[in-house]
Amino acid sequence: MTFADLGLSDQLLRAVDESGYSEPTPIQRGAIPSVLMGRDLIGIAQTGTGKTASFVLPMIDILAHGRSRALMPRSLILEPTRELAAQVSENFEKYGKYNKLSMALLIGGVQMGDQVKALEKGVDVLIATPGRLMDLFQRGKILLNGCELLVIDEADRMLDMGFIPDIEEICSKLPKNRQTLLFSATMPPPIQKLAAKFLNEPKRIEV
Ligand code: AMP
Repeated sequence: MTFADLGLSDQLLRAVDESGYSEPTPIQRGAIPSVLMGRDLIGIAQTGTGKTASFVLPMIDILAHGRSRALMPRSLILEPTRELAAQVSENFEKYGKYNKLSMALLIGGVQMGDQVKALEKGVDVLIATPGRLMDLFQRGKILLNGCELLVIDEADRMLDMGFIPDIEEICSKLPKNRQTLLFSATMPPPIQKLAAKFLNEPKRIEV
């Protein structure tokens, strides 16, 4: 199976080709077609399996072909750490080089000024750690009700770091009819509960 069989657009196939990947990994084969179809997803996969591309690639296609809503972010990726959030934003830039999407990286440890400026201009994708996202939300700097695609990445690490209450609160502010993708290396009971509460008939892929 090739990347072209997964239903990705020509712009993405070109970016993937330039990344030097010859074929999709198992998580990419399992996830990409169903994410493109709009399904919710539980991906049980470790780092190193190609899981980042399994959500970033179809997200770029969905966002590039949908209509932009004035100033409201259309998608949100939650990451447990600043480093992971920064890595995902690099992936977005690499795979999205032939698509014009705007992105804001909302992480702690840096001043809020530039993040607020980016939000004021309007962005397609927010990549955030839960703490900074909640902080900006509580200051009234982010509207989440236009956010139709949510990724909860590394859910088991989120649990270890005590972020589940924040994630529940964030989920409750997003539109109910959104698409939700959850990735985790393991599925301990609190993560199963979170998935049961916030995902809608998800496809489950374990690699
Ligand atoms: P991840 O699991 O998302 O942390 O990805 C691990 C590494 O695999 C990253 O350095 C990616 O650039 C690389 N990668 C992702 N997809 C593929 C693929 N289909 N073929 C080869 N390498 C890949």
